[in-house]
Amino acid sequence: MQTPVGIECPHFYSDYHRGRDREECRLLEAAEPPQVWVAELCETCPVPGILRANSCENMQLNAQVTRSIFDAFQRRVKISAFCIKTQGNVAKPEIGCGECHPLPPIFEVKE
Ligand code: SF4
Repeated sequence: MQTPVGIECPHFYSDYHRGRDREECRLLEAAEPPQVWVAELCETCPVPGILRANSCENMQLNAQVTRSIFDAFQRRVKISAFCIKTQGNVAKPEIGCGECHPLPPIFEVKE
């Protein structure tokens, strides 16, 4: 479904049927503890980009609303990711943990 800023996000839900005006982010709603969603959060939210880059079904996203260190009034969605297959945190959700979809050797960084 399209967010108020026009980006496709599977976690956004809206219902405008018969005069209803209901909008919610089900990812923030399911967070522990549940987070309050406002439409501005979708403007800078990394989730749609992460899901476009990596659609691994074993990766679970957890969202928290944080404040910017530069502007205390600006709130942002911060994402952490967990792989239910390896039972580990995923450092770069856009790339994934590499278990199901290993990168070809050409992309490995030599140290
Ligand atoms: S805040 Fe992020 S995850 Fe929630 S609906 Fe908006 S874009 Fe999707």
